[in-house]
Amino acid sequence: MRLQGKTAFITAAGQGIGRATAEALIREGASVTATDLNGDLLKGLKAAHAFALDVTDKVALTQAVHDTAPDILVNCSGIVHAGTILEATDQDFDTAMNLNVRPHMQAIQAALPGMIDRGHGAIVNIASVCSSVMGLPNRFIYGTSKAATIGLTKQVAADFVGQGIRCNAIAPGTVDSPSLHERLRASGDYDAAMTAFVARQPMGRIGQAQEIADLVVYLSSDESRYMTGQCVCIDGGMTI
Ligand code: NAD
Repeated sequence: MRLQGKTAFITAAGQGIGRATAEALIREGASVTATDLNGDLLKGLKAAHAFALDVTDKVALTQAVHDTAPDILVNCSGIVHAGTILEATDQDFDTAMNLNVRPHMQAIQAALPGMIDRGHGAIVNIASVCSSVMGLPNRFIYGTSKAATIGLTKQVAADFVGQGIRCNAIAPGTVDSPSLHERLRASGDYDAAMTAFVARQPMGRIGQAQEIADLVVYLSSDESRYMTGQCVCIDGGMTI
């Protein structure tokens, strides 16, 4: 139980990477506050607290984080838009930044003062290999926003490294999740799209949410105490 005695707060914990992460943090002994836009998805989680929370609601988000006073903060919300820069609309750009970046800033703003007072805090932001790490076709808005997630991570790490705060990002490759299956269906040819996604992963398969959750546990725990400001790729070899 690597997180015994720690309090954790996680956004977008209803399914996929967020759900697997909430389960892993609970398994490791943390007292977890799990939140998601869709509160029904949180049913069955053995979290200390689980409730519906829209991360675009700044007041609700910052209040919930402040009330939790977390030692561990996991920012998991994110949305994928398809298209190149030529298809990008201001509205989609704003939607992506409002889910993939702004709530992370606001949640960290709410968590940091308490973390600094207690002298420790671990923040983990879920980014993507599609970011400043690498470009991928048809992911202009997504990759731009996830690059901002990584930049935000490094800025927080640089500013608070002397006060016991660690802030790291995770850049997954393609991971099995409900929204991935939606994207495959939306392509019009599910099987061809899945084959193409698998083909870009040298290990010959897409990732499992549990594999990302294991890395969140590591970055949240004292095992990674000498690590901050990093973006760790976990991608089946996609970025070798
Ligand atoms: P998902 O996309 O299947 O689920 C997303 C969850 O976010 C849902 O439970 C949904 O209800 C919740 N959500 C949506 N809008 C919300 C809001 N406004 N407030 C709070 N919650 C909201 O899960 P996933 O695919 O595992 O993605 C999780 C994170 O991992 C995202 O940041 C995503 O960009 C990132 N990621 C995913 C992959 C992948 O291949 N699945 C790869 C790299 C990075």
